[in-house]
Amino acid sequence: MTRPVKEAKRRRPLSIRALQGIGVSPGVVAAIVVVFKRQTLRAGWYHLPAEHIEKEVERFAGAINAAGDELLQLREKLAGDLADALSIIDSHLLMLRDRMLVERTIGIIRHSNVNAERALAQALSEIKERFDRIDDPYIRERFSDIKHVADRVFGLLSGREHSPLTGEDQPVILVANDFSPEDTLRMQEGNVHGFLTEKGGITSHTAIVARSLGLPAVVGIEHATSLLATGDFIILDGGSGRIILDPAPADIQRVRKSNRRDRLLADELDSYIHLVSETVDGFPVQLSANIETLAELPTVLRFGSEGIGLFRSELDYFNNRQPPNEEQLAATYQQLLATMAPYPVTVRTFDLGGDKFFNRFPGNKAWLDRERNPALGLRSIRFSLYEQTMFRSQLRALFRASVHGRLRILLPLISALAELRQVKGIVDEVLDELAGQGHPVAGDVAIGMMVEVPSAVAMADVFAAEVDFFAIGTNDLIQYSLAIDRGNQYVAHLYEPYHPAVLRMIRQTVEAGHARNIPVSLCGEMAGDPLCAPVLMGMGLDELSMRPAIVPKVKRLLRHCHSDELRRMAQQMLQCGDCDQVRSLLARELANLYPKEYYQG
Ligand code: PEP
Ligand code: MG
Repeated sequence: MTRPVKEAKRRRPLSIRALQGIGVSPGVVAAIVVVFKRQTLRAGWYHLPAEHIEKEVERFAGAINAAGDELLQLREKLAGDLADALSIIDSHLLMLRDRMLVERTIGIIRHSNVNAERALAQALSEIKERFDRIDDPYIRERFSDIKHVADRVFGLLSGREHSPLTGEDQPVILVANDFSPEDTLRMQEGNVHGFLTEKGGITSHTAIVARSLGLPAVVGIEHATSLLATGDFIILDGGSGRIILDPAPADIQRVRKSNRRDRLLADELDSYIHLVSETVDGFPVQLSANIETLAELPTVLRFGSEGIGLFRSELDYFNNRQPPNEEQLAATYQQLLATMAPYPVTVRTFDLGGDKFFNRFPGNKAWLDRERNPALGLRSIRFSLYEQTMFRSQLRALFRASVHGRLRILLPLISALAELRQVKGIVDEVLDELAGQGHPVAGDVAIGMMVEVPSAVAMADVFAAEVDFFAIGTNDLIQYSLAIDRGNQYVAHLYEPYHPAVLRMIRQTVEAGHARNIPVSLCGEMAGDPLCAPVLMGMGLDELSMRPAIVPKVKRLLRHCHSDELRRMAQQMLQCGDCDQVRSLLARELANLYPKEYYQG
């Protein structure tokens, strides 16, 4: 990596109190910021006399070899459970043999009689031009890996040592335009408690390494290196992607205490893992897990979830150049269902578009990146109905896998009855097709819908007669009901789960579902907030689905609650006029009823 320079100047309007990025590695940390601005290491352009050319080629080859040695050393240091990181380093080692990078640089040195740095910069810019012409954002993102590798070679050519990422004694959160996967691995050596970057996405290799290390991380915050300055204090939430700037001392205390408690109470929480999730008076609430990959299954089982309340199936579509085929998907879903059996697994059909940006497969039109308002555009179920071949292939794979466990299929962003009926028509056709082809299908596959737009809430009584279950998606429901773009940093402070309108919509959905005897779950971030969970339980939700590691915390709280108290508390919240009132009422009630450590943090 090029030598980072700590940046101490901040250019941030004081009104900005929070930033919103993409949470790519969960965990909440409060710490001081260290901003890194990369120094450009490109040496000047100079011509060389003919007799020095071969020496220059040798110097370049030496830097390439040294870069390879560095990567190999790093690889050796890695623990065996960091398989993802190992394969990323291997791909970087391969790039050090890439023709377009290495041979092209040598060619430029020889034909233009220029120094290695200049030749490498030209080769890199030619590669970038090619990548820029690619529509596919996933492939375009791979250029960042080539750049990280080239930066390493630039550093070696200039003879600069890697500076430590931080020499601080106190815990820090690193901020930069981008970090390479190798930078992220090196963060283990420093006192780094999290990082945030301007570039990157959920599928970037840097994000993958952060998740393997359990290092909280947020990416995609534009201008982060200008908005923040070394010495700022922030709270970073690697799950929700939210950054709180200059947090109140009470909030910092809350995060720190909760981190300390997390460590201290890990043993105590372990004792809840195998207990039933029910209130003191035997009122059950199912606690399930939200996951995106099969790799998370061991964690789900370790923390005692009683099923998967939300399997976000998008990642298979992001990680491949082609849409995954039916066989691949069926194998994935079979493993998912079989591992979790006899617990239920709720697979949401792909929720592409909107904030889960996607326009990559051949044949797809370039319309998605031209949408003016993607959150209100061709996303989720609308996209599935537009690209029906892909949708049918996923449904076929799901039904084929259904015989291996207990499958529930969840449809995202349903906003009108006609839309739901169209999907049900497709499901019937797919089932007929599979029967005709002799594929066995489980007879008890439940079909449910996400309730995440206000029209679905208003019509919940009608929808309840048409589906087997409801799953309330508050992440989107808050966005659409309060008109707050969930990914927009300028309005992030208005994104308010405790808004009484949101609470009332949840309650209305639960009542509509129960009137028709269908179960209602909630799988937005709210479900895993220990402050919120009691209110949600009091509203009568049958299931809360959250990140797997939070399950024991919520279970412990639940097992100390009395269902009457929870119902009374929820009833009071529903009468509140604004979020501040909800919060203070909640804080008061919980403080009266339970020990603080049960619901804080
Ligand atoms: C939601 O909207 O609450 C939800 C769970 O879906 P996602 O966050 O994947 O949009
Ligand atoms: Mg959603």
